[in-house]
Amino acid sequence: AKDDGRNLIRFFSAAMQAVVAARAELELKLRAALAGNGFRLYYQPQLDRSGRVIGAEALIRCFDADGTMISPAAFIPLAEETGLIVPIGEWVLETACAQLRAWQREPATAGLTLSINVSARQFHQPDFVGKVAAAIERSRIRAGGLKIELTESVVLGDIETTVLRMRQIKALGVRFALDDFGTGYSSLSYLKRLPFDQLKIDQVFVRDMEKDTSSEAIVRAILAISRSLDLEVVAEGVETAAQHELLLTRGCELFQGYLFGRPVPIEDWKLERPP
Ligand code: C2E
Ligand code: CA
Ligand code: CA
Ligand code: CA
Repeated sequence: AKDDGRNLIRFFSAAMQAVVAARAELELKLRAALAGNGFRLYYQPQLDRSGRVIGAEALIRCFDADGTMISPAAFIPLAEETGLIVPIGEWVLETACAQLRAWQREPATAGLTLSINVSARQFHQPDFVGKVAAAIERSRIRAGGLKIELTESVVLGDIETTVLRMRQIKALGVRFALDDFGTGYSSLSYLKRLPFDQLKIDQVFVRDMEKDTSSEAIVRAILAISRSLDLEVVAEGVETAAQHELLLTRGCELFQGYLFGRPVPIEDWKLERPP
């Protein structure tokens, strides 16, 4: 029995060492990607009710030294813990603004919007407002084309600070979307106080909408809330024509999902969608 205990301890400490080593390796890869050119933005189209592409969400990808792609789900949490999300987020902001500028220079793409994801830790950096203002100025974009997606976790502690900061950024012309709506815990009174322009229905509700009446009810409730608060709504994760139909029937305004296009590097971005 004594031996069993010792083996168990050895087993656990080996497992923990493996976890620590994997995290350390991932952190090194992120640092290398920052120093080299390891990050890419992929662009996923957003469509209006008539099927026209009105813009895109920029989604980050990381490539390690052998060109293997690391998905953001795998590295964003560690980037947040280590603070690397701050320089990574600055790179996203700069790169997205440069792309938006390229779109705004061409008549065919001048009206497109570009959404970027900003993590709570990045948003609450003391100089974040200044960074956004500087990126807008440097790229010479019309700021109305830029949208910042935040999740409910952005409200850390007191809501006043978050509201004030959002207002400062909105004064620059930038708009805000509340990402993953319905998955968090924030109350409707919060939602009313935060100056969002858009709500994004989380893909879990869209996915389960047809087979699960509670998801369908949630989608309908979100659409009703956004109408009464005068917020634009985007449904995420639309994969099937049936989901699209149902969302259209319920009055959803904007759509994003594999049905219309996966996130792609800018070289593969096309404005025209197959009918
Ligand atoms: P998110 O912001 O909720 O982004 C939507 C995710 O759903 C993306 O995953 C997208 O590729 C995926 N998706 C889009 N359409 C469909 C669909 O029809 N079906 C399914 N199953 N999935 C779909 P991705 O690109 O792996 O990003 C995961 C998360 O990583 C994002 O979730 C976001 O929270 C975070 N992230 C991505 N880029 C950035 C970034 O630049 N900065 C920060 N802070 N976070 C980012
Ligand atoms: Ca998002
Ligand atoms: Ca989302
Ligand atoms: Ca998400």
